[in-house]
Amino acid sequence: MKILVLNAGSSSQKSCLYEISEPRPPDRPPTPLWEATVDWTHHQGIAEIEVKTAKGETLNLEIPTQDRAEAIARMLDTLWEGKTKAIDNPSEVDVVGHRVVHGGQDYRHSVRITADVKAAIDRLTQLAPVHNRANLEGIEAIDRIFGPNLPQIAVFDTAFHSSLPDAAAIYPGPYRWVERGIRRYGFHGISHQYCARRAAQLLNRDLQDLRLIVCHLGNGCSLSAVSGGESIDTTMGFTPLDGLMMGTRSGAVDPGILIHLMRQEGYSVDRLDRELNQESGLKGISGVAADLRQIATAIETGNAQAQLALDIFIHRLRSSIGAMLASLGGLDALVFTAGIGENSALVRALACQNFDFIGLKLEPEKNQDRPVDRDIAAPDSKVRILVIHTQEDWAIAQQCWRTNHQVQ
Ligand code: ADP
Repeated sequence: MKILVLNAGSSSQKSCLYEISEPRPPDRPPTPLWEATVDWTHHQGIAEIEVKTAKGETLNLEIPTQDRAEAIARMLDTLWEGKTKAIDNPSEVDVVGHRVVHGGQDYRHSVRITADVKAAIDRLTQLAPVHNRANLEGIEAIDRIFGPNLPQIAVFDTAFHSSLPDAAAIYPGPYRWVERGIRRYGFHGISHQYCARRAAQLLNRDLQDLRLIVCHLGNGCSLSAVSGGESIDTTMGFTPLDGLMMGTRSGAVDPGILIHLMRQEGYSVDRLDRELNQESGLKGISGVAADLRQIATAIETGNAQAQLALDIFIHRLRSSIGAMLASLGGLDALVFTAGIGENSALVRALACQNFDFIGLKLEPEKNQDRPVDRDIAAPDSKVRILVIHTQEDWAIAQQCWRTNHQVQ
């Protein structure tokens, strides 16, 4: 079965083609036959397309377009034409899976995309304007290129958190908020679920018996508390702005600050949105960059604001780990994933430092040793500490396989 995955970001579009030939998906991710990325971040109005194949062929293209559908069409041409060709023609693709950021309350599992599902994704652009619109454009582009009979599956980033109990999901505002769907949805669910399943594999334990905290620390950051394979608490909320400090997002702040800024300083909604989403977090406090690597370099040269940014990041990470710990009532493994979680030994060491009282003990050498899918806890640690390379695209491919075979 050949599965094409589309993963749309605000200014990027990733895609890859997997082949699952066994009767069920293998435990370990196979190398995609073909992978491509469209990136609009470097030059205004120019889509940079980068392609590589399992056979080692690579291709770089630049096309003057801002239009996602056009860029997807050009990107897919490289799947069946030229030196990066991985299949002979489009009809070899059996199913297309899309990462859809917001599935609201209705979508608790991956679903085959129908006119109703498209309408729901469209309605939910109210809650995730940039991402859900990009997802819809991707779905429609695939309809045009492959025709309407090719099955397309939506894999929702919110679905894994649909198991949150009401006490964790409902904000203590007026009850009418609940009736209007204002609640904690949580995000990064595809990554949290993948890491929980992978953690069980690495520990050789049944996921049903495990209590896990997954720390997804990338540009966006969120934690999940996973008990018996279900998400029971998470830090992102109604939007991906809640919770931890992030690259450019503030995370949770006193909502009274927003009232103050609007009332005393005449802030508009757009200005609040821009400051909280794009000018806050590591970038806002350090004044250096959103990228932790640049902040670490600035700290080495004695930059006090960069140090403060890291200190706040760690303080909030530790307090939120504490909150997840309380929701779980115990812990079998702490999992680090995504750009910062997978690569920053410093953040992992600082995050773990205050938890020796629960018997959590990092092995410094293992932590420094660029671990990938490894346990970095000391042998006598009462809690395992795992670094897992998140594989969202592979998780989407697995979900497509399961949805097609009607197993969840
Ligand atoms: P996204 O959320 O956009 O998918 P990633 O998961 O790729 O982001 O994470 C991006 C972040 O990972 C960067 O902003 C950077 O701070 C961090 N990062 C990547 N590599 C390293 C590294 N070697 N050391 C520290 N931080 C890193």
